[in-house]
Amino acid sequence: MDHISIELTPKSKLISNHHGFRAKLKGLKVEYVDPYKTSQECFQCGKVKKTNRRGPLYTCSCGYKKQADVNASFVISTRPSIAG
Ligand SMILES: [Zn+2]
Repeated sequence: MDHISIELTPKSKLISNHHGFRAKLKGLKVEYVDPYKTSQECFQCGKVKKTNRRGPLYTCSCGYKKQADVNASFVISTRPSIAG
């Protein structure tokens, strides 16, 4: 792994700055991404549906099923960088 993708929102900015700082110390490139609906988007098929996330589990009609935070992190990894 030579880079890390971090959601960029005002709410998460403090946490993002902390993770970004630690990543840079380790020589990793930090990319900031738009977090819009990352918790509702299916990593496998790209469908966005709010009800696919129920508590800790993400389940999509395409058959994809994953722990919700893991699915969101996979989606984040596919988003383009918006700032750095
Ligand atoms: Zn899907």
